[in-house]
Amino acid sequence: MQSILSLQGISKAYGPIQALKNVSFDVPPGSVFGILGPNGSGKTTLLGTVLDVLKADSGNYNWLDNTPSEKARQQIGSLLETPNFYHYMSAFDNLEISASIKQRGMDDRLRVLQLVNLLERKDSKFQTFSLGMKQRLAIAAALLGNPKVLVLDEPTNGLDPAGIAEIRELIRQLNAGGMTIIMASHLLDEVEKVCTHVAILKKGDLLLSGPVDEVLHNEDQIEVRAADM
Ligand code: ATP
Repeated sequence: MQSILSLQGISKAYGPIQALKNVSFDVPPGSVFGILGPNGSGKTTLLGTVLDVLKADSGNYNWLDNTPSEKARQQIGSLLETPNFYHYMSAFDNLEISASIKQRGMDDRLRVLQLVNLLERKDSKFQTFSLGMKQRLAIAAALLGNPKVLVLDEPTNGLDPAGIAEIRELIRQLNAGGMTIIMASHLLDEVEKVCTHVAILKKGDLLLSGPVDEVLHNEDQIEVRAADM
């Protein structure tokens, strides 16, 4: 496979606000691909567009080397908004509801709980979970059906340092297991620690994209970093 996701000239406006301006880049297979930019730069709009939650005004995108969208969908797990888990229900039972909403199989609930390191707490009520554990359960729900690609919007936002470290480690482990991860972040430091590739957005413009080593660690780009992050 050549490309997990390919964007060609995506633009999107909300009335007078141009949230994305002619954005093009490719996400290589096996990458942890960061969409980096400050608040309001268009990260969520970009993820919403490629997940068909929003409609682009112009441009194209395709998943998995032009796999037909219905088939590609089954291979994409996503977490854009925190799911509405039931506080009084166990992690295991909450995942049953997630599986039926997402029309994904329920038979791999134990597998996804193991992946996010919550197997031992599968029968605990959601309300007893820390914020980091709640986020890991949300990622577990996105992993139901064993997708090839996982799309996350600011997955460490609002977590304490221990929760942040756990989520970053989970992303690394999932990637080491062969999954491609696309994640929005407003933290340069996070992208440097977790991502292999990055696309930098500013006010809807794509400033740079490519391997983290080339884009963020290149002397020539230091001015861009200083001016734009
Ligand atoms: P944040 O981290 O704050 O979510 P972001 O990088 O994800 O920021 P977006 O949420 O995509 O950025 O927003 C891009 C621009 O579009 C911003 O100027 C934002 O105010 C605007 N915007 C986003 N959603 C809407 C909407 N539903 N209606 C109008 N403007 C919107």
